[in-house]
Amino acid sequence: MGVYKSAASPLYGRSGMLPEFGTDTVHVPGTPDWRCIADGARWPCEAGRQRLTEQHADRPADLLTLMKASAERACIDLGADEPAAREAIHRHMVDWVPT
Ligand SMILES: [Zn+2]
Repeated sequence: MGVYKSAASPLYGRSGMLPEFGTDTVHVPGTPDWRCIADGARWPCEAGRQRLTEQHADRPADLLTLMKASAERACIDLGADEPAAREAIHRHMVDWVPT
């Protein structure tokens, strides 16, 4: 997937969707606000977490990697420069991942 650069990066497909979360529109993050495009909740929403867990049932380490990378991107998109703000984003996006 390459390195995150900016909102103009080719990582961003149509409608600000991130291709690594699949091509359907069920509980995936919209950018740059990182809210679920299905229900508007902070992503990952409850249904999004369940979906991600099912998708990565046989490779939980990949899910952890994906969510850490996503949290880094969200920090940039959301302008979270302060350590506390970054930590809050990481907690929300990474801490739920089953290990
Ligand atoms: Zn959702």
